[in-house]
Amino acid sequence: MEEIELSNTRIKILDRIPVGLCLLRQDLVVLFWNSCLENWTKIPREQIVGTNICDRFPHLDRPKYLLRFETVFQQGLPALFSPQLHQPIIPSLLPNGKKRIQRTTVTAFPALKGKGFYALLTIEDITDMSLMLEAYHNELEQRKQVQEELQRSNAELEQFAYVASHDLREPLRIATSFSQLLEQNYSEQLDAEAKQIIDFIVKAAKRMQALINDILEYSRVNRNKRPLQLTDSQEVIEESLFNLRILLEETEAKVNVGSLPKIIGNKSQLVQLFQNLIDNAIKYRNIKQIPEIQIGAKAENGECLFWVKDNGIGIPSQQFQRIFKIFQRLHGREEYRGTGIGLAICQKIVELHGGKIWVESEFGKGSTFYFTLRSGEISNNPSIN
Ligand code: ADP
Repeated sequence: MEEIELSNTRIKILDRIPVGLCLLRQDLVVLFWNSCLENWTKIPREQIVGTNICDRFPHLDRPKYLLRFETVFQQGLPALFSPQLHQPIIPSLLPNGKKRIQRTTVTAFPALKGKGFYALLTIEDITDMSLMLEAYHNELEQRKQVQEELQRSNAELEQFAYVASHDLREPLRIATSFSQLLEQNYSEQLDAEAKQIIDFIVKAAKRMQALINDILEYSRVNRNKRPLQLTDSQEVIEESLFNLRILLEETEAKVNVGSLPKIIGNKSQLVQLFQNLIDNAIKYRNIKQIPEIQIGAKAENGECLFWVKDNGIGIPSQQFQRIFKIFQRLHGREEYRGTGIGLAICQKIVELHGGKIWVESEFGKGSTFYFTLRSGEISNNPSIN
């Protein structure tokens, strides 16, 4: 009893689902025609169940469809039918005048008596899905265009920065050397105030030269498009420390380097990255202490996490983001040398390598700069250091 009820319920469900269902016997007689099909075709099931479907839709009598149905009936294999199958059955225009998009599949259904299969035609209205997909594709295309436009204007801007800073160097050099000549050759005719003015001009011009050199260096990071390759970060550190050897000797800095992994990168850029960070660790040292720097790395989530830790003056937490911006400094020129480009270059290098860089610090107690790079190790050992 319960089974019959269950079976009736299943039929009711199949009848009401918003998918067109038509069950065909091997002789193409319609056994089931659900409400959805009644609604779409305006053919009541009483008129079609028990009749041959080809009587109502003669196009199905064509050899190509008969052959397909044969595959379903004999072999029990599903088949996807072209829109030409359902177009004459279901009007392709929706009541709102828009085109209806449908998909028809024919599935084999074991016949109740005897051998072979029934064919179940499933006709889905995929108009909404297709429209959503189309909107999604349009949006993707628009985003792609915006991104291309952004890349193009970025490249243009970089080219402009490079050319402008390169060409600006020459007139600036002339202005500086003529001001210096003026001071040397007319020294006796110039009073103290005039000499001081010339001194200001020369200092300002030199400062401008330094800024222009920094902009050039910054735009060169992007121009250096050498492919990333397997690089030994131990060698990278050694080269950075070699370049900083005089500063290290002068300040008696202690540098402790843990065992470092192989990574995927551009060696000269990575040397610059470590060099900038170590240089800062020494520059922003605590004058009461000998600078102590720890460099290490560990594998994390398939990447390598590096750190450069110092015992220097530290950074207030509200400045953690700002220091990575170009020309942003927390100190005056008189206090510490520099122009505020070092960390901007570090950030650019790390991002070009697909990584992230950030700082953690306790003001007055030291800072730790962290960054991630792609691992070059075959198996990532979680305890590299
Ligand atoms: P610069 O050193 O030329 O000012 P950077 O971009 O390298 O430029 O650094 C930006 C600012 O971040 C510095 O002016 C300094 O205030 C701060 N900073 C960078 N590194 C450290 C560090 N290790 N300890 C303390 N402050 C630092």
